[in-house]
Amino acid sequence: MTIDNYESIRKQVIKAGIEMAETKLTLGTWGNISARVPEEDCFAITPSGVDYNDIKVDGVVIINMEGRVFAGNMKPSIEWPMHLEIYKNRKDVNAVVHTHSAYCTAMAIARKPIPAAAEDMVQIVGGNVRVSKYFPPGSPELGKAAVEALEGRNAVILANHGCLAAGRDLKEAMKIAQIVEKSAKATIFAQILGGVVELSKNEIDAMRDFYLNQYGQR
Ligand code: 13P
Ligand code: ZN
Repeated sequence: MTIDNYESIRKQVIKAGIEMAETKLTLGTWGNISARVPEEDCFAITPSGVDYNDIKVDGVVIINMEGRVFAGNMKPSIEWPMHLEIYKNRKDVNAVVHTHSAYCTAMAIARKPIPAAAEDMVQIVGGNVRVSKYFPPGSPELGKAAVEALEGRNAVILANHGCLAAGRDLKEAMKIAQIVEKSAKATIFAQILGGVVELSKNEIDAMRDFYLNQYGQR
């Protein structure tokens, strides 16, 4: 089962990477994507600095929970320690999409959180999107800072860097990255219009509960 399993999850990671590039959630080779390998203590992550359209199945790197690379013929994303830190600390997360999208980058360089105001974002993220403490890309400290700012949420703005979305699967993580980008853009426009009206904790909790337990076809 192991080998087939890797192939299927690696293909899903490649597909998500192409979608991230095509929807302009990142430009060039920046950003990275990972997903847990089902029923195994490891995850599949994009290779470092490779065009998303050029990633081959064997280039997607498999890393275990001790941070040991044991499959893949390319160097993993420099952000593998951040992805690992998230999987270690968030059992509810099975996929991570890290983007350098334009409006999230605006929030990241201004070091401003995205307020809990748009109902779709509140449902899918669980509240506002905080800004993590600044650490350089690829550093183990960045992973710890991301986990801290991600507490009780499914997205975080990485200071002076970009966005990180964490979901139950790749499809959800990608959707979170898109909704957060749209909310970052809406926040900036709302500031021009006079300011953002945030939702109350009760309203946020009710919408989060609705998303997790009722929304959509069940
Ligand atoms: P990688 O190409 O190594 O994934 O790095 C891109 C990036 O976004 C670093 O934060
Ligand atoms: Zn990055």
